[in-house]
Amino acid sequence: MKEFELIEQYFQQETLSWCNEHVALGIGDDCAVLNVPAHQQMCISMDTLVEDIHFPKYANPYDIATRALCVTLSDLAAMGATPLGFTLAITLPIAQESWLKEFSEGLIAIAQQYQCPLMGGDTTRGPLLVISIQVHGIVEKHSALKRSGAQIGDYVYVSGNLGNGAGALPHVLQHPKCSIGLANYFWQPLPCIEFGKELVGKASACLDVSDGLVQDLNHICKASGVGIKLELNSIPLSDLLLKEYGQEKALQLALSGGDDYQLAFTANKEKCLPEHSKCIGRVIETENKNVLLPEQYTSCMSGFNHFS
Ligand code: ADP
Ligand code: MG
Repeated sequence: MKEFELIEQYFQQETLSWCNEHVALGIGDDCAVLNVPAHQQMCISMDTLVEDIHFPKYANPYDIATRALCVTLSDLAAMGATPLGFTLAITLPIAQESWLKEFSEGLIAIAQQYQCPLMGGDTTRGPLLVISIQVHGIVEKHSALKRSGAQIGDYVYVSGNLGNGAGALPHVLQHPKCSIGLANYFWQPLPCIEFGKELVGKASACLDVSDGLVQDLNHICKASGVGIKLELNSIPLSDLLLKEYGQEKALQLALSGGDDYQLAFTANKEKCLPEHSKCIGRVIETENKNVLLPEQYTSCMSGFNHFS
């Protein structure tokens, strides 16, 4: 199958790459053309997934696609942005039609759910399956949620259960084609887009938890010049995770495991926050700008890192 046929057949489909008020021109030209309303700003983020580094290569193509798009959209959620569209760079060892069909179906499911069409991309042959997705979103001018605004005295919250992504990992590695139970959290970490939008004007700092709660909250600490004290008993853990791992191990997974894609944010107690916000700690003044943990949890200070 030729490159252009492949693009037409699997990526240029009405259900995947539609145009709308924001996307004036999509797949088929040298560039996509976007309309950005005058009172808004564009947020852009990119994620790359490499076979056998970020996902097992024999996983279902549908699942690989949902994960790739979900994790990238999660960065828009963290900024309080509304998705507008995405671009896809894909490198494939071979162009197998059944694989591409399933892959595009996974993209369609998430693109439809978040109203975020595919606007363009690049398709190449290479030794490994590599998927890069860039998302584009919009937010009211000067209202994007950043990591840098946490104030001493603010409370620390998360949008939902932590640890499911890390708890799913052994299942995913052992049975790459199974995507039910905990594994579903790995393959479809649904981005908290609506939750993020609700936080605009309310959260003083925000990010998505991708590399482990403690490591990610440390980014807020650094950027905001504050410390954070966690209330470990308040960290929300799913029944599924608790049932499999027990309280202690589940908490460790929540603190240091990655792949949750929940939002962690800080806010003044007076603010009216989204319904499922869960308070897990407090922003405090410290010498070291980081998360304070009881001694037995200090190994949780390091989450995921590609180069160590
Ligand atoms: P160019 O030669 O100008 O870089 P290409 O021949 O690579 O363009 O691509 C032709 C069209 O198909 C472009 O509009 C491009 O954005 C789109 N496209 C290529 N690969 C993909 C992909 N993987 N997903 C979505 N659109 C793609
Ligand atoms: Mg060109």
